[in-house]
Amino acid sequence: MSLPKHHPVPIHILQEVFGYSAFRGQQAAIVEHVTEGGDALVLMPTGGGKSLCYQVPAIARQRAGHGVTVVVSPLIALMHDQVGALEEAGVHAAFLNSTQSLEEAQAIEREMLAGRLSLLYAAPERLNTPRFLAQLTSLHERGLLSLFAIDEAHCVSQWGHDFRSEYLSLNLLHERFPDVPRIALTATADDITRADIIDRLQLHDARVFIASFDRPNIRYLIVEKDKPREQLLRFIQDDHDGEAGVVYCQSRKKVEETAEWLKSEGVSALPYHAGMDSEIRMRHQDRFLREDGIVMVATVAFGMGIDKPDVRFVAHLDLPKNIEGYYQETGRAGRDGEPAEAWMAYGLADVVNQRRMIDESPSTEEFKQVQRGKLDALLALAEAIDCRRQRLLAYFGEESEPCGNCDNCLNPPATWDATEAARMALSCIYRFRQNGGQRFGAGHLIDVLRGKDTDKVRQYGHQHLTTWAIGAHLSEQQWRAVLRQLIALGHVVTEGEFSTLSLNESARAVLKGEVELLLRQPTAPARKGKTSRST
Ligand code: ADP
Ligand code: ZN
Repeated sequence: MSLPKHHPVPIHILQEVFGYSAFRGQQAAIVEHVTEGGDALVLMPTGGGKSLCYQVPAIARQRAGHGVTVVVSPLIALMHDQVGALEEAGVHAAFLNSTQSLEEAQAIEREMLAGRLSLLYAAPERLNTPRFLAQLTSLHERGLLSLFAIDEAHCVSQWGHDFRSEYLSLNLLHERFPDVPRIALTATADDITRADIIDRLQLHDARVFIASFDRPNIRYLIVEKDKPREQLLRFIQDDHDGEAGVVYCQSRKKVEETAEWLKSEGVSALPYHAGMDSEIRMRHQDRFLREDGIVMVATVAFGMGIDKPDVRFVAHLDLPKNIEGYYQETGRAGRDGEPAEAWMAYGLADVVNQRRMIDESPSTEEFKQVQRGKLDALLALAEAIDCRRQRLLAYFGEESEPCGNCDNCLNPPATWDATEAARMALSCIYRFRQNGGQRFGAGHLIDVLRGKDTDKVRQYGHQHLTTWAIGAHLSEQQWRAVLRQLIALGHVVTEGEFSTLSLNESARAVLKGEVELLLRQPTAPARKGKTSRST
C-alpha cells in the first residue's frame, strides 16, 4: 500500500520539504524519537545539522494535528534566516522578537493561536512574559502546543561560554506544561556544562544524543608567530586566493588595522567588531554572506549564528581564550563539508597576554583558576607535537586515532631536547632575583642568555652574571619557544604591566633535571616583507 502524499513520515518530509535525500548521522534517530513525543538532549557540533532535528519533527507533528512547535533561540539573526528559509520551503513559520512592530507581532500571535504555525521562534525573554505564557496555555488547553525546542541550550549554564540569565526560567515551561515534549540542542559539550544543562532544564529523563565533534573536513594548522601579518597574507594568497574566510583578532584596533592592511595587499577584507556603527556592521555582514570571496576580519563578536556554508578558512591572529572558543570559531569553516582550513599563529606574547587578562579580570579566585586550567589546555594544543585533532577531541571526551589531516600529522615536526635550555633560562631568572631583587621581562632575559650587549645589560651589570651568554648557541626564536613552554607549563609566572618573569615552585623540578622538555624545532622564518617583529 502506498502512503498518502502528506503522511508525516520524517524521511518524506526531509525529501519533500527540504530537498535532501537522507538524514545525516544521528538525525534519523533523533527525529524519530522527538516526533514520537520523547524528550531529547542533542550535542552536535556546529554545522552538524541540529536545525533539522526539531524542524522535521515540528512539521510531522503539525501535520498529525499536534499544533505549534515553539523554538527558543537567543539569536535574532538566526531566527530571521531560518524563518525565511522555512517559508520559502512552504512551511508556515514565524518569529516573535523585539525588532517587530506591535501590528506585526499581533498578526503572528493570531496565526499561532489558531494553531496554524508549524514553528514559532521566540527569544527566551519572551517566555517570561505573562502575555506569552497565557497564549501558550490557551494553545495547550486545545491540544495545539506540540513541542518545545531549546536551541543553544548551553546558555543555561554558567560553565558554558555564553551564559544568559533568561535561560534559567526555561524550566518554567516544563513545570507549566509537563506533558509537552522538549528537545534541547547545543554545540558545546564539555562535561560540567552537559550535567548543568540536564539539571537546570530538568532533562533527567531525556534521551541524550551525542554526535562526534570531529569535523574531518577541517584541517588544523598552528604556526609559530614570526611576522604574523605576512604569514597570514601568505596563507591567504597561497592557499585561499579569492575564497571566503574569517580572520579573528583580539582587539578592535587590530581588527581595523589588519583589514586595512589586507585590503592594501589586494585581499577583499572587511572589518567587523561591536564598536562599529551598527549600520556599517550590518552592511559588512551582508556582503560577507552574499558576495563571494570576502575575508571578514573580526573580533569574536562576529560569527554566532552566521550560517555561511562555504567559509574556506578561519584564521586566528591571536590566541582564543580556551579550547571551546577555538573549536567554536574554527567550526565556522567548512559547514558545507568541503575541505577547509583552521589556521592560527601563536607566540610568546599570546601566552603572556591571556594570562594577564585572567589575572586582571574582576572574577573570583575560583573562577580564575578554572579559566587558567582551560587556557593551559589550549596552550598544550598549540605546543603539541602530535595530532591536533586527537587532542581537540580528547578535550571533549572523545577518543580517536591520529587524523592525517592536521599540520603535525602531515608534516611531523622535528623536535629538540630543550631540557638543558630550560634550566639555563630558569637559573638566569633566579640570578636576576639574587642580583638586586629586580624582575625582568622575556626580551631582556633572552638578551642576557644570548650574550647581547645592550644598554640595559650594562645598566644592570648583567654581563657579569654567571648565566651571561650561556645560551648563545640557541636562536632568539628557540629561546622564545622555551619560554613559551615554561610559561604554558606554569614553571614561570608573568606579572604586572611589564610582564616580568618569576619562578614558580614547580620550577625546582626542572632545575634539578627531573623534568624533560621536548620542543618542536622552530619553523623557517617568513620570507618576504619587513613588518615589525611581533611575538
Ligand atoms: P547546526 O545548527 O548544527 O550548526 P545546521 O542545522 O545549520 O547546523 O546545518 C548545517 C548545514 O547542513 C545546513 O546548510 C543544512 O542545510 C545542512 N544539512 C543538515 N542536515 C542535512 C542533511 N541531512 N542533508 C543535507 N544537508 C544537511
Ligand atoms: Zn592529525
